[in-house]
Amino acid sequence: MSDIIQLLPDHVANQIAAGEVVQRPASVVKELLENAIDADATDIKLLIKEAGKLLIQVIDNGKGMSQTDARLSFERHATSKIKKAEDLFNLHTKGFRGEALASIAAIAHIALKTKQEHTDLGTSIKIEGSTIVSQESISTTTGTSIAVKNLFYNIPARRNFLKSNTIETRHIVNEFQRVALAHPTISFSFYHNENEIYNLASSNLRQRIVAILGKKTNEKLVPISEVTDVVEINGFVTKPEFAKKKRGEQFFFVNNRFIKNAYLNHAVTSAFEKLLSGGYYPTYFLFLTVPTKSIDINIHPTKTEIKFDDEKTLYAILRSTIKHSLGQYNVAPVLDFERSASFDTPYEFKDKKTITPRVQVDSNFNPFKSEEKGTLKYPYKKENTSQWESLYTGLNTDSFEVESKKINNTLFSEVSSNSKTYQIHNKYIVSSIKSGIVYINQNLAHQRILYEEFLENITVKEAMSQQLLFPLEISFNKSDIELIKNIKEDLENIGFLFDSILDDTIIVKGMPVTIVESQITIIIEQLLEDIKNDIPDTSFSQLDIMSKSLAKSLAIKTGSKLDLKEQEELVNKLFSCKQPDLSPFGKTTFVTINIDEIDKKFNN
Ligand code: ADP
Ligand code: MG
Repeated sequence: MSDIIQLLPDHVANQIAAGEVVQRPASVVKELLENAIDADATDIKLLIKEAGKLLIQVIDNGKGMSQTDARLSFERHATSKIKKAEDLFNLHTKGFRGEALASIAAIAHIALKTKQEHTDLGTSIKIEGSTIVSQESISTTTGTSIAVKNLFYNIPARRNFLKSNTIETRHIVNEFQRVALAHPTISFSFYHNENEIYNLASSNLRQRIVAILGKKTNEKLVPISEVTDVVEINGFVTKPEFAKKKRGEQFFFVNNRFIKNAYLNHAVTSAFEKLLSGGYYPTYFLFLTVPTKSIDINIHPTKTEIKFDDEKTLYAILRSTIKHSLGQYNVAPVLDFERSASFDTPYEFKDKKTITPRVQVDSNFNPFKSEEKGTLKYPYKKENTSQWESLYTGLNTDSFEVESKKINNTLFSEVSSNSKTYQIHNKYIVSSIKSGIVYINQNLAHQRILYEEFLENITVKEAMSQQLLFPLEISFNKSDIELIKNIKEDLENIGFLFDSILDDTIIVKGMPVTIVESQITIIIEQLLEDIKNDIPDTSFSQLDIMSKSLAKSLAIKTGSKLDLKEQEELVNKLFSCKQPDLSPFGKTTFVTINIDEIDKKFNN
């Protein structure tokens, strides 16, 4: 038998490796920014075009590379950062695998320019799909510039797999923010299609947080600081009253590397217990420094998980440190004195005046409570649904529709011929129908109604809006502003009117008639969060997510009393929906009980 095993050529091996290292433009951004930091740069520029699909360029003023190193850097397993296996347990750099540049070079066009400080000439190298197409000496400034063009040009399947520019940009912004937060003393700038997204001067952590998340953040921050034998903790949490209905702004860095860790996140959240109402999350920026030996950093390059030797102790220290700081800053009702002595980190309570605890957070706070009573509004006409019906095609609801139309039509005629409705437990609307009784869940039914209305409004663009007497200023962080810009048109179709969208603020001058002014911030925040979490694939599903999010936020809640007219309106509106039997999230909106079933109960 002849031998059949062959060693793969380097460029093929690199392309395979690239599949793991580079999932999207943001992965390239992360690798390049980290290389610049490892090169001790103090100023780093990121330029992208078309969400990184066309160009990702990172320019640094770091130590640069020699001519030989410049060429070697694109070889697989070529790294200056470790020399022997033991170095792995004492890592002080972001990179160490020597894989990133080789992988990126296998799937893109690369132009590298680099120069070391004490040399006159630098090196320029161009690579296309692992092949060096040119190399020359050039005069350039000290540092390195790497431009990555046409990512995945030779892997169409991957290229097609990329999401919309909005989503890919968001991933890039996330990576940029993480790196920029971890290195406040380095100045960073970030341009997208030549528009400046960030320009961050060298600063301290607080200033950097404010520069990234908006100036209003400053007053919200509570500093956290603790040194123990096992971990040093620094950073900030936000005061509980500024907690958000979204999880987005939660940052853990371990030894200056961004990580995600559900267990430690729980430690932080639990330190806030009783200070936050359900569904609200604290914002935090926490830097943990641990001995390099106590963590296993040998993780997959694209992963953000990390393994600690002693997670339980970390959990306890983190939780009590945050509780303590919240107490000191007068925002927590109780101080946590039950710290384990084994942490060996006594607080200097004796030097501090006792503070009378003051609770500033109403745990029963419900932003929807007061305004929504009896404000069932149906401002929209339900004619010409035909244009948007086509939106449902291909959504696999065919079987539903046939089914629900049957129920719908018969039920509708039955309901409308019977006038009386009742509300029970401020939760269900009950009405008698020819065949028996129908119970309608008011919240879920209203979600369905609003969902179809929003979807229709976005699509046929005929929403009604109400002008605000005084334009409303709402601040957001820059990446949220980017997202708002991207969905601005859809928001306008729903009925929002914007005076202007600035760097970290939007000025709203009108809003859909269904929204009460005091809810507006929370509704937009929720909307952005839903869009981020759902990662829509197509523009249709983005509209769908927006409609769902708004419907969920605005629907009459369980517990709201409805007068007779509102009840009837709800019933009538529900049964003129296209798909009345399910909420936009697939929950049953009404149940019927047949007269036969009732009869049966009496016949035993
Ligand atoms: P790693 O970062 O894991 O070492 P990379 O493939 O990212 O692997 O980079 C390979 C090598 O190229 C690095 O070890 C470093 O020596 C060099 N290098 C990469 N980017 C830069 C840069 N911006 N400035 C100086 N040297 C760099
Ligand atoms: Mg690297």
